[in-house]
Amino acid sequence: MNRNGIYLGKAFGIPIRLHYSWFIIFILVSWALIGNYFPAVYPFWSLTSRIAAGIITSLLFFASVLVHELMHSIVSQRQGIPVHSITLFVFGGVSQITEEPSKPQDEFRMAVAGPLSSLVLSGILFGIYYGFGNTANFAAQFVRAITYWLGYINLVLGIFNLVPGFPLDGGRVLRSIIWWQRRDLRSATKIASAIGRIIGFLFIFGGIWLAFSGQWFSGIWLALIGWFLESAAQGSYQQVILRGILKGHRASEVMSRDCVMIPPETTIDRLVYENILTSGRRCFPVIAGNKVIGLMTLSDVRAIPRDRWATATVREAMTPLERLKWVRPEEELSRAFQLMAENDINQIPVLEDSQIVGMITRENLLNFVNIRTGLGI
Ligand SMILES: [Zn+2]
Repeated sequence: MNRNGIYLGKAFGIPIRLHYSWFIIFILVSWALIGNYFPAVYPFWSLTSRIAAGIITSLLFFASVLVHELMHSIVSQRQGIPVHSITLFVFGGVSQITEEPSKPQDEFRMAVAGPLSSLVLSGILFGIYYGFGNTANFAAQFVRAITYWLGYINLVLGIFNLVPGFPLDGGRVLRSIIWWQRRDLRSATKIASAIGRIIGFLFIFGGIWLAFSGQWFSGIWLALIGWFLESAAQGSYQQVILRGILKGHRASEVMSRDCVMIPPETTIDRLVYENILTSGRRCFPVIAGNKVIGLMTLSDVRAIPRDRWATATVREAMTPLERLKWVRPEEELSRAFQLMAENDINQIPVLEDSQIVGMITRENLLNFVNIRTGLGI
């Protein structure tokens, strides 16, 4: 367990995580099934059967979303783009794909794979539903009730994701087509994310309208999805711009080389008054012999209570090397940016043969980007 959710295991070599917000959707779906859907279609079912069917259906719904995301990821991996992980959360699933595809055809295939799998799944489930026919047999009713609802939800999942609002799958399909025609990823992303934002706003207004016309739950839900889509569309465009600026540059170009190393026996008191307050630096490599053993940052200092500063040493407060994220000097700058964003850290050391050769901070990166955007490069 961590702040990104619960680790479930690997499928096709891809780590699968469950974000805590997913439990909201699990409870809502089970609740709606047990309280409304099953009583409406099979009024004579006992409460126990309804609860069992509700939980099984919710879990299979989760599996459907996972199949959708796995299809994106498998196609991505087959095109040589590694997938970092898949996380299921309240609005569905996200595949963390590490790079943008290099060809519009690749993006088209990757984007279309998810909704296509949902539609195929929907067809199979409806097939099972009709295959059983109308019957008084409880087991058959059980399968029919579950497959009908799942068939319907997969159909909705497939169609909804084909809405051309970037970064929804349909928006990615749209982007790949514009990209293919214009041969320019940046302007294709600009157009696709502008449409994505418009669709996001339409969802928000539609949701508010629904809420005021009495369907408050669906209304709020739609507005939330719209808000999520709008901010995701905006964020994706900025990310493409940023990647464009960082592309082709190495970690060694922006790192600051004048690191102040501190020995592990330094007390927190001395570090704060003799190093941090006088130099204004925020992080210090910890050196034993001539090897880096860890990194001491402001947040590591804050983790130690004030009354222990005089006795606590850097060794016990630092982040040890094995838990540290770092890059090599020749690594792509975008990799450093990605690691900082993923792990929510403000600086990343640059290591070569377990020696610290430099440090990249958020300020280093911001300056690098600001100067280039300022000059219009
Ligand atoms: Zn998708």
